[in-house]
Amino acid sequence: MNPFEYVKPSSVDSAIRAKARAGAAFIGGGTNLLDLMKGEIEHPRTIVDINGLGLDRIELLPDGRLRIGSAARNSDMAAHSEVRTRYPLLVEAIVAGASQQLRNMATAGGNLLQRTRCHYFVDTAFERCNKRNPGSGCAALTGEQRQHAIFGASDRCIATNPSDMNVALAALDATIRVQGPKGERSIPVGDFHRLPGGRPQVDTTLADDELILSIDLPENRCADGSHYLKIRDRASYAFALVSVAAAMHIENGVVSDIRIALGGVAPKPWRATAVEQQLIGKALTRGAIREAAKGVVDGSKAFPGNAFKQVLLPRAIARAVQVAGAVS
Ligand code: SF4
Repeated sequence: MNPFEYVKPSSVDSAIRAKARAGAAFIGGGTNLLDLMKGEIEHPRTIVDINGLGLDRIELLPDGRLRIGSAARNSDMAAHSEVRTRYPLLVEAIVAGASQQLRNMATAGGNLLQRTRCHYFVDTAFERCNKRNPGSGCAALTGEQRQHAIFGASDRCIATNPSDMNVALAALDATIRVQGPKGERSIPVGDFHRLPGGRPQVDTTLADDELILSIDLPENRCADGSHYLKIRDRASYAFALVSVAAAMHIENGVVSDIRIALGGVAPKPWRATAVEQQLIGKALTRGAIREAAKGVVDGSKAFPGNAFKQVLLPRAIARAVQVAGAVS
């Protein structure tokens, strides 16, 4: 690991000023950043510690939104009474990720920013990785593709976003509140992560000099039933091959609102809006759910190593929606 300077600012403003130094990085729980530093993938010259700045609070706002501070630990989010009562989907997604020890350290902001676990990205023995070394190529295009994307990829990068929390946030229409030298702004979660295009080294629309302050959740209109389904190679401590966050509102026996977000299949959480639209106004039956889910793979692009996802994904959506809607 390269030598680095450690800075512990006493305010959000001083943290943002410290980040302006060349090669500086924020640290919250460090569960991803330290791994990347030890693996010689990230080489920050200054570490700016954002713990102790009051960013770990979880609070209900007067307008009914829930504000989760960016330094709140995953375990604290999952155990918080307001989160458990109002957003059970988020709790399910968080506890599906990592291990208890990691959840005790990992933060909400770090979870948003965690980087892909593409084997070729995290192992510097592989030279070709456009995300780690722009312009070097993409080893996954002709290599191991089991974890890789079927939506939203480019010919430069086919990596997936590894977070479970982010999938639930996409279904819950979260907003990310950030602050930079010029003040605050809010980014809808759907615009926060970016597709690789020709610049796969850039994962998000967060500017270099901006700090995530909080994740804001609107009142949950889809609390009648929800479920997070994660399909992976082993039962715990593994990233999703495919995951589905489903939440719905039922009125007079028909679906009046439904949110379906997908993980493990794209460089960012992927909303299945066509499936949602097909279910709105319908009574939830196994047949209606299966019919709606099967079109989800229209427009997907698979490789030999991940073509199984085109079969698995509609089934996973059907299962998640059935469980969320208690459809027998
Ligand atoms: Fe690198 Fe992306 Fe290719 Fe993986 S898929 S090797 S992260 S460029």
